[in-house]
Amino acid sequence: MPGEDPPRALLLIRESMTESREGIDYAVRVSVRARRVTLRIAPPEGLVVVVPRDFSRGKIPSIIEERRTWIEKTLARVLPDKNAGPDVPLPERCFLPALQTCLDLEEKDFLTRLRSIAQERLVPWAWSLSRDAGLNPASISIRNQRTIWGSCNAQGRISLNQKLLFLKPHLVRYVILHELCHLEYRNHSALFWSFLEQVDPACKAHRKEIRSAQWSVPPWAY
Ligand SMILES: [Zn+2]
Repeated sequence: MPGEDPPRALLLIRESMTESREGIDYAVRVSVRARRVTLRIAPPEGLVVVVPRDFSRGKIPSIIEERRTWIEKTLARVLPDKNAGPDVPLPERCFLPALQTCLDLEEKDFLTRLRSIAQERLVPWAWSLSRDAGLNPASISIRNQRTIWGSCNAQGRISLNQKLLFLKPHLVRYVILHELCHLEYRNHSALFWSFLEQVDPACKAHRKEIRSAQWSVPPWAY
């Protein structure tokens, strides 16, 4: 967005219209100046599809499919090495700030373990916040996205990144509330932010803080 600080973080909350198809996460940005569709890849946002106003979003998946080779090559260059995981020595235990608890990592399939912990703890947390806020997502699920903390699609389905387990509780809460508020406002308008502010009065500070939060995520969690 124009006028914002230069992007620093790789993981962030993207535009509400973030969607994921064919395993590639992307954000859609509508530009009044764009004449045609362009794909941009840069940290922190990863893949951004810039579309002219009135462009039909249904065409985006096939555009992504056509450019898949370029997208994957470029993403691999700008995002952390996804093959770094197995080479990084695993600690025996790790601390999960989100839950203020330690996790034993003796099991080999620690990514699956992280997912099930996120499923058991983050999903009920999100449902509870949604009830408190009077919002009704169609579903809340856990994924292991590479470049986003969470998303809310046009059907009201919310996805939360299992890497949120490595963030402090107030930032996890911020991400959940941010996505829940997209059920009301599918954009980042002033109305959206004032709506979010009602449930998270410090949301602007949290938004700044989350820009560097990716560094709390250990390499093996990718
Ligand atoms: Zn958002």
